[in-house]
Amino acid sequence: MRHRIAVVGGGPAGLTFAHVLHRHGCPVTVLERDPSPDARPPGGTLDLHEELGQLALDKAGLRAEFRTLSRPEGQAMRILATDGTVLRDWPARPDDRANPEIDRGQLRDLLLGPLDVQWDRDVTQVVPGKDRDGVLVRFADGRQETFDLVVGADGAWSRTRPAVSPVTPHYTGVTSVETSLDDVDTSHPDLARLIGDGSVAVYGVNRGLVAQRNSGGHVKVYVRFRAPLDWHTELDLDLADVESVRSGLLALFDGWATPVLELLRRGTAFVHRPLHVLPVSHTWAHVPGVTLLGDAAHLMPPLGAGANLAMLEGAELAEAIAAGPADLDEAVRAFEEQMWARAGMWAKITTAGLERLVSPDPAEALALFDQVQPS
Ligand SMILES: Cc1cc2nc3c(=O)[nH]c(=O)nc-3n(C[C@H](O)[C@H](O)[C@H](O)COP(=O)(O)OP(=O)(O)OC[C@H]3O[C@@H](n4cnc5c(N)ncnc54)[C@H](O)[C@@H]3O)c2cc1C
Repeated sequence: MRHRIAVVGGGPAGLTFAHVLHRHGCPVTVLERDPSPDARPPGGTLDLHEELGQLALDKAGLRAEFRTLSRPEGQAMRILATDGTVLRDWPARPDDRANPEIDRGQLRDLLLGPLDVQWDRDVTQVVPGKDRDGVLVRFADGRQETFDLVVGADGAWSRTRPAVSPVTPHYTGVTSVETSLDDVDTSHPDLARLIGDGSVAVYGVNRGLVAQRNSGGHVKVYVRFRAPLDWHTELDLDLADVESVRSGLLALFDGWATPVLELLRRGTAFVHRPLHVLPVSHTWAHVPGVTLLGDAAHLMPPLGAGANLAMLEGAELAEAIAAGPADLDEAVRAFEEQMWARAGMWAKITTAGLERLVSPDPAEALALFDQVQPS
């Protein structure tokens, strides 16, 4: 019997899930809120780990395409002191395929491939079935549909999550503001040299800045600092005004080396992202017909694991379903146990990592990199 399966959300989790199901000939409905694939900027670069995101791409049959698009040289990393002194310089390793980078937009297009996504489908509520024929999905335009299995891959502020868990994300105490530069090699050659082939990072007291090269000479700059959620109100900044945010950030990073501050002086728009997380080891009592993947299940600090986990979970759940289990719900329940164990471990690692990267003692950040970078 063919199951009616829907996935809410067309991010890394939802698209990998749908792609692997499609590869196995299983129909799946992808419900995405965005009106089109290019409705908003896709975001920065992602490093995909060999044993997580790349394994998921194997399961999707996309490893060869990934090798063509990805940038192993993006693994290069340089750390500066706030006065600009180079503290560490790990060069590019072009043959190292452990964590190559890929632009989010490129990854999305790869995963979209043959999929027939339903765009502009804003899910407002998922109601698990009791006596009804399946799980009910309600949409913002008033429509509703029923499915045998609804997979919530709708990110941090999931509308599917309340069907299985009352838990909501909480603020970590760390805020991130993101800006970007285009055509660095031609328009900002001095900053292109500073950044190198991969990333440059600077850590100070309770704050840090990372500039990361994407493809095509595009650079994303992320600043992170400990602050109350309403830090901008306290500083009387207008988040909608680029120059207001710029001046606020330049004041926060006052005294740092000029080339580092130039990244903020020349950045275009600023995107405010307070970092929220779900509790480490978030689980729920299994609800027949509904499950979660990715950030919807285990939102954690953005330290290089979230998209990787989301993709592998999508691929694993799809494979479990495609194997045609006698009891679909039993297969989902077994998948959840496996997801919770692995995600719990990564949530602990990334939570501890954020404490060390945005720390009162900047030497903590350096020590963390010394542990994880190849010697
Ligand atoms: C600055 C930054 C850098 C990061 N870098 C990395 C990295 O290098 N490596 C890494 O592994 N992870 C990284 N992460 C984390 C990673 O981005 C997330 O963990 C990952 O995107 C989660 O994927 P997802 O599919 O679960 O959710 P999302 O990517 O959030 O996708 C959810 C999708 O659901 C859709 N949606 C939401 N609500 C609804 C609704 N009501 N109805 C229908 N659709 C809906 C959204 O439009 C979206 O398309 C980073 C995060 C940030 C913020």
